[in-house]
Amino acid sequence: MATRTFENLFYDQLKDMYDAEKRITKALPKMVRSAHSEDLSSALQEHLEQTEGQIERLDQIFDQLGQSPGRKTCQAIVGLLAEGESLMEEAGDALLGDAAIIAAAQKVEHYEIASYGTLREWARLLGRDDVAETLQETLDEEGEADKTLSRLAGSLNPQAAESSNGEEEDEMEGGEEPTVSSREPRPSSASASRSRSSTSTSPARSRKH
Ligand code: FE
Ligand code: ZN
Ligand code: FE
Ligand code: FE
Repeated sequence: MATRTFENLFYDQLKDMYDAEKRITKALPKMVRSAHSEDLSSALQEHLEQTEGQIERLDQIFDQLGQSPGRKTCQAIVGLLAEGESLMEEAGDALLGDAAIIAAAQKVEHYEIASYGTLREWARLLGRDDVAETLQETLDEEGEADKTLSRLAGSLNPQAAESSNGEEEDEMEGGEEPTVSSREPRPSSASASRSRSSTSTSPARSRKH
């Protein structure tokens, strides 16, 4: 390994992110469909489109560097996506599901922010300010996506916390609508049919197939 150069390391990390972004575009549609909040769903949809642009941007970077695009399995993203998927499956109801989706998505964004921040710095060190600038564009998008998710967490998570407290503490309040049903369901058949099944053990997405 002594023959490896800093430039090799840089290419490896570019390929790692190329693989990561491709895996993220495969995972996001499921999160878009599973999200109960329409705002969350459309934010994720928007980021899916951005992610497709980020893959094109990586193609452009490989081109700028005179290298052919390649993938190197990003074990971190494989792990984060698998973990996010179990988190969503275990969530049970719509509000907790959205909290789980936000948590999973923010972990991915933070990983991407760390990776692109490093890549941008490395590009500068390698004297490629042109590539650093292209990487900065993606870094800005990841940062915006993270901020959007924080904003959504700020409005959605208190409802998730409240509805779980209600279930544990006031089981006797039979006459009142459960908090979960007071949320506007998305006008899709999937969310309509699962909106009240807090006792159902089947994950929401199992209906989609
Ligand atoms: Fe990305
Ligand atoms: Zn990675
Ligand atoms: Fe990685
Ligand atoms: Fe992202």
